Amino acid sequence: MHIKNTKVVCTLGPASNSVTEITKLVQAGMNVARLNFSHGDYKSHQELIKNIHIVEKNTGKRIGILQDLQGPKIRLGDLPAEGVILKKGDTFILTSNKSAPSSHLPIQFKPFTSGLKKNDMILFNDGLVENEVLQIIDKENVKCLVKCGGLVRAHAGVHLPGITQNIETITAKDKQDLVFGLKNNVDYVALSFVKSAQDIKNLRKLIQKQKKSTKIIAKIELKLAVNNLEEIIKTVDGAMVARGDLGIDIPAEQVPIVQKRIIALCNKYAKPVITATEVLLSMVTNPRATRAEISDAANAVYDRTDAIMLSNESAVGKFPSQATATLSRVAGTVEKELRKYSELENNFFIHSREVANPHCSNACDLAEETDADYLVIYTSDGYTARELSRHRPHTPIITICEHEETARELTLVWGLNNIFAQVLKKENKIEQIVQILKKNKIVKKGNKVVILANSSKKEKIISNITI
Ligand code: PGA
Ligand code: MN
Repeated sequence: MHIKNTKVVCTLGPASNSVTEITKLVQAGMNVARLNFSHGDYKSHQELIKNIHIVEKNTGKRIGILQDLQGPKIRLGDLPAEGVILKKGDTFILTSNKSAPSSHLPIQFKPFTSGLKKNDMILFNDGLVENEVLQIIDKENVKCLVKCGGLVRAHAGVHLPGITQNIETITAKDKQDLVFGLKNNVDYVALSFVKSAQDIKNLRKLIQKQKKSTKIIAKIELKLAVNNLEEIIKTVDGAMVARGDLGIDIPAEQVPIVQKRIIALCNKYAKPVITATEVLLSMVTNPRATRAEISDAANAVYDRTDAIMLSNESAVGKFPSQATATLSRVAGTVEKELRKYSELENNFFIHSREVANPHCSNACDLAEETDADYLVIYTSDGYTARELSRHRPHTPIITICEHEETARELTLVWGLNNIFAQVLKKENKIEQIVQILKKNKIVKKGNKVVILANSSKKEKIISNITI
């Protein structure tokens, strides 16, 4: 397996739910498993969590668990098993009335007509099928004209313009799912269709009510979130560039621009960021990715994303471990290239150093100047590790943190591959750290290490030593 700093998140599903498949994903470079609560039931999620823990034990590798809440995604209702083909020029009635005739197309949301007006576009299937509103008949029925046709199946996603402002971000289902996730000690909860920092605060309260402090990922997939981006990033623990829904709510050609903004802001505030959706889409059915997909994944690494995510590729695709290995190879290759251009890179990303924790940037500089073999950091709650990571140092990072919980959270963060959970005594931390490195055979005689820790008086100390 390629050693890589960029993390890989794999969505688990029917194609990857067994111990054997999850083991293959870990061997191919998966760091975090995503449980998608838009699909599956508690029984299947419980089974997945059990299998993840078995694989962790067998491989000795931590696998972070990210619970992805569905949020207020509007969907079509039941349709015949073969679906319905909508042809350009057809008209149909979209209805939220459960007893409407079967010739109407059912939608599972009420009142879906409130924000709608004539000539609005209603999209199905992530925008593949486009319909124009011809007439708002009444509160429950809207007549539509198919502008761009295709096959729609039961429960396909629906995009209604202007509606999201009026719906609560955290639905009743999300609240139930959250309780399940927290009970199972997930490491991150991702919130879909975030609109503002207030949504994050609301979720934080629900988490605290369950006596937990689980970290939150904001999925940026609405124009409203893009408008409130900096506030959201400041409030949340991490973000996802959710390009699927985002590319419907804003023009698709804006998505790469917004991706760079989200990643830059997350780097600035030391919050992990995941680049998601359609990353290696063709690998759902093909064993090899397209050049354009490889290039997109590579560019996310150049943008300095913490992690790249697979969705259908790993959940329902034919080649889950091959897709994971492809991402690992792309990340490892680009990172090697970036190391050659550290000067250029630092100048390029100079803006991200503006709120630097000076100890972290000094430790990174010292490690690079002295050509150190390792940069070792001792952190209690992970904050300093994230601060160090955001500088994207070229020196491999070893992290020692106090709690297993923190170690698990750090599986998502760029460059934190070697993590030990161990509480150190207050006095002589540096000696204890060197002992841990030796005992775990990380260092050999003659290795140079830069250690960042705090003294017994809680002052930060940077120590530059040769083993
Ligand atoms: P989803 O989110 O897969 O839950 O829809 C990601 C996205 O919209 O890109
Ligand atoms: Mn989405």
